[in-house]
Amino acid sequence: MGVGVVPGRVLAPVRQMTAAVQEPPFPGGSPAQGTLESQSQRIKDAAKAVQADLRSRAATASGEAKNILSATALMATDPMLVTSAIKLLSSPDGARTPERAVWEAGSGVAEMLSGLGGYMAERVSDILDVRARIVCELRGEPAPGIPYSEQPFILVAEDLAPADTATLDPRKVLALVTASGGPQSHTAILARALGLPAVVAAPGVQEIPDGQPVYVDGAVGIVNSSPGEEQQRAAESWAASASSLKAFSGSGRTADGFSVPLLANVGSAADAALAAVACAEGVGLLRTEFCFLNRDTEPTIADQVEAYGGVFEAFPGRKVVVRTLDAGADKPLPFLSNLDEPNPALGVRGYRAHAGFPGVLERQLQAIATAAASHTAEVWVMAPMISTAEEAAEFASLCLGLGLATPGVMVEVPSAALTASSVLGEVDFASIGTNDLTQYAMAADRQLGSLAALNDPWQPAVLQLVRLTVEGAAAAGAADGKPKSVGVCGEAAADPALAVVLVGLGITTLSMSARALGPVSAVLSSVTVAQARELAAVALRAPTAAAARSAVRSALPLLSELGL
Ligand code: PEP
Ligand code: MG
Repeated sequence: MGVGVVPGRVLAPVRQMTAAVQEPPFPGGSPAQGTLESQSQRIKDAAKAVQADLRSRAATASGEAKNILSATALMATDPMLVTSAIKLLSSPDGARTPERAVWEAGSGVAEMLSGLGGYMAERVSDILDVRARIVCELRGEPAPGIPYSEQPFILVAEDLAPADTATLDPRKVLALVTASGGPQSHTAILARALGLPAVVAAPGVQEIPDGQPVYVDGAVGIVNSSPGEEQQRAAESWAASASSLKAFSGSGRTADGFSVPLLANVGSAADAALAAVACAEGVGLLRTEFCFLNRDTEPTIADQVEAYGGVFEAFPGRKVVVRTLDAGADKPLPFLSNLDEPNPALGVRGYRAHAGFPGVLERQLQAIATAAASHTAEVWVMAPMISTAEEAAEFASLCLGLGLATPGVMVEVPSAALTASSVLGEVDFASIGTNDLTQYAMAADRQLGSLAALNDPWQPAVLQLVRLTVEGAAAAGAADGKPKSVGVCGEAAADPALAVVLVGLGITTLSMSARALGPVSAVLSSVTVAQARELAAVALRAPTAAAARSAVRSALPLLSELGL
């Protein structure tokens, strides 16, 4: 058993990820060949070759995969890694081979990143991946990676390196199972983007022999290495229904015709184009920081106009909600983050960076306004990590001053949910970020697999915060004489059962990864608004997250019929 992160039922043989690269010995091994200078050059050349390989894979990838491969490529020639490896070649405690020097330098960088915590600690797997690739390059061995197989298979690994997940072939890999990793790990995010059933944090799966048929249920986290006939049938019926689930008509509604626009979360123009093909009714979250994760310096206004314009282009006449840069914690941007904070998730992130990095937000808003002016998309703008009504008011006045007529806020800090009537009094709309709202309500780092049970948007405390936000928005709307819409753009909106509960709580739009549009619309259209409200009441009354989930799921038999 593990934590299910992407629904789907698959029965197929397992292939274990290629064995990890062996640690080069020290002392020992064959003595290094050549002068110090030539050995240093070999390290530099190997790092460059790895970077070139990752870059060429980035060039053929798209969306999130492209971003991750480009970021990993940058790490390959990281000066800290390469320089400390070269220093180690002539270390006073004994000369190392180039392979050994790279190995030790990689450990040093990984230790340093892990000490920094938060997003930096998440990058440890990237640096260790790069280290393994450079060592293989120096040895003239093929790079570690996904095993080759003629037959489609379930890929099992300790945790997947981003560079591997980014390039895996979804025609060959039917599902992903990892022994570690959390619901927000790269494996989970990419599995969601690829629509691959996935289970993470499933200890012991690496003992399963290659070729063994295994049943995986990504909705509930089952990994069974001795599947019976019933599971065989469940996998067959999932395979039969999966293709119809992929389709979304382009109009989210309940069984009694109540409209709930289903929007897409995107991070680039390429994502937006895919979301438009998937019939998303607009964009509910443009994560603008994703457009610039690889940059050391602030993008120019012209670069920003181009990036945002590319997204608006994909949705003519449709709503596009642009979130201003959410830098910090798990997504630091060198030009907008203080990298030595002791506790980045509670630090200067999101809107809070506005005070310490003057001008960046104004220039971004200017770029959004300029891009909006030459497109027909209906552009709304929201700020991440708003905690108080004063921040909301300040943001709204900046937006209005630059001609952006529809300002809003993310509700992802419990204080904003608790004071929603005054926060919403300052802006036109709110979008609930359930990923962070859960992390902060439960004081559980969203990156940690070991805290997955706490980090669950079905937690009673999180559902109560959603309810309070909707109620606060209604009060603010009544006071202002204009309704304030409240959407959800966290991962919770992509869980079809939770989506029904959210609608029952009064959420008016749901925004999700484009792959989730089909399943969410299928389940939503099976209930009336009154039933959704009843299920919301059931969930609110439940004493635990597990009880809420199971009570709601058992009232929605379609979920298990569809394997969701
Ligand atoms: C959230 O916190 O739910 C959210 C949508 O923002 P992000 O995942 O980008 O922090
Ligand atoms: Mg967030």
